[in-house]
Amino acid sequence: TASTETRKFEAEVAQVLHLVTHSLYSHKEIFLRELISNASDACDKLRFESIAHPELLAGEGELHIDVSWDEKARTVTVRDNGIGMSRDEVVANIGTIASSGTRRFLEAMSGEQKSDARLIGQFGVGFYSAFVVADKVTVLSRRAGAPDNEGVKWESDGKGEYSLEQVELGERGTTVVLHLKADEDEFLKRWQLTSLIRKYSDHVAFPIRMPKDKDGQPTDEWETVNDAGALWTKPKSEISDEDYISFYKSLGHDFNDPLAWTHNRVEGSQSFTTLLYLPAQPPFDLMMGGRDERKGLKLYIKRVFIMDAAEELLPNYLRFVRGVVDADDLPLNVSRELLQHNRQLDRIKAACVKRVLDLIEKLAKDEPEKFATFYKAFGNTLKEGISEDANNRERIARLLRYASTKSEGAGQTVGFDDYIGRMKVGQDAIWYITADSYTAAAGSPQLEAFKARDIEVLLMSDRIDEWMLGSLNEYGGKPLKSVAKGEVPLDEADRQKQEEATKAAEPLLRKLKELLGDRVGDVKVSARLTDSPSCLALSDYEMAPHLARLLREAGH
Ligand code: ADP
Ligand code: MG
Repeated sequence: TASTETRKFEAEVAQVLHLVTHSLYSHKEIFLRELISNASDACDKLRFESIAHPELLAGEGELHIDVSWDEKARTVTVRDNGIGMSRDEVVANIGTIASSGTRRFLEAMSGEQKSDARLIGQFGVGFYSAFVVADKVTVLSRRAGAPDNEGVKWESDGKGEYSLEQVELGERGTTVVLHLKADEDEFLKRWQLTSLIRKYSDHVAFPIRMPKDKDGQPTDEWETVNDAGALWTKPKSEISDEDYISFYKSLGHDFNDPLAWTHNRVEGSQSFTTLLYLPAQPPFDLMMGGRDERKGLKLYIKRVFIMDAAEELLPNYLRFVRGVVDADDLPLNVSRELLQHNRQLDRIKAACVKRVLDLIEKLAKDEPEKFATFYKAFGNTLKEGISEDANNRERIARLLRYASTKSEGAGQTVGFDDYIGRMKVGQDAIWYITADSYTAAAGSPQLEAFKARDIEVLLMSDRIDEWMLGSLNEYGGKPLKSVAKGEVPLDEADRQKQEEATKAAEPLLRKLKELLGDRVGDVKVSARLTDSPSCLALSDYEMAPHLARLLREAGH
């Protein structure tokens, strides 16, 4: 028609499309999960907007998602009666890259990760996955509240251009029609679609309906094929591990099984439910320092999805946690601004922190292998809590693990409690060394005197350790001391020996001080060394060389 307009995709969209369709090929079935998840988001958004504007729900019955197929036309269709999109929204949401998540995705995918499909699910590129199985996609959409003649038809072969047309649509919401590629016949079968819905989308909170079939053809009779219950509201005894795992996957952003979870209901003057998961692997944006736009923890109020509220419900150092919080007593029309100054929310947040730390402690105690996996993925993130969460400092410190002069190799397995349990009679401090690497720490001449006296030293080699130590002066009543600072602990015999040696070395010391001048604070005979002739040492209040270098690198 005359009103059809053809536009080019923004350059970055074309790039995303190319990457997604090429690298997702081995996981192509996830297109259905992605489209259903968009449909579910659209229903969530309408339900939320209708709290303030109930008239938006007028006309159609309950919010739902329909999936159907047409063997002759070779199409699979996903339809929802959710919020829908205006013409401008269609252009903004699927013609350009609006979300910064997608931009990060592009940056990430253009490096070495290029074809790692695992990463794709972590970014908002879901819609484009339709082009993995389809050579043409048609979107029909009408925003809730807009008149019938303001429908939009969007169509593209995913190659660089799309067309836009204004059309008459009798119902609000969005219909996505996939015109399947020649070799994608498997998705034209009801059992195949049903099993994918059960696998990936069983816990979507809206009914997903499919037509019953007769001789492989869809009939007019629809039935709900997913569970559609809010899993977290069921009693624990009715939920299997498989349920928990598939619910985790339905939250999105991770193809892998979770490592562990904790599900709790708090009853009382304020009631709420938390279902929190520890992933097994760090998501890409955590490693990229992705502090903005934290996703993964969904806030519901009485089962109505309100928003992603990870920032309001969890401290930064637990940003890897995923899951759901459902509060009974918050006002439904709560805004982000209100959330930030809400006392009830502070209580929920404290409960979330407690549950997560309980869960990690339980792993440390009962499931060492899982704990090791967790620690490898998130140990350094957890360390941020030492300075961020003073109230839980001791609990967090108890979870930290290091290599040590008394453990095997570079593995980080020694906790402060292990250390204290092995301390020598009369030893009054926890000794550590910081360095750029395990090898540098383990080979440091600073350790000689401690080895000679059989005193254990923790070997700290992660960048964050030095920074963390700024907030951790003691553990279990024992001060933490760097072997690079101050003096080595001596017994009486040692002290005498040192005094004699100092006297004997008097002329040498004088000569060295003259030679080195301002470049050193002092030259001393030390009990620090047994094999090496000399080393540099810091006085108690000097910055460790490692930290000084970090600061220099950061431009200080
Ligand atoms: P994400 O869902 O992570 O935002 P997608 O690529 O899956 O990324 O979708 C892009 C955007 O397109 C969505 O954020 C949403 O605004 C819009 N959209 C997609 N599908 C629908 C739908 N069924 N109803 C309404 N809006 C939709
Ligand atoms: Mg999506």
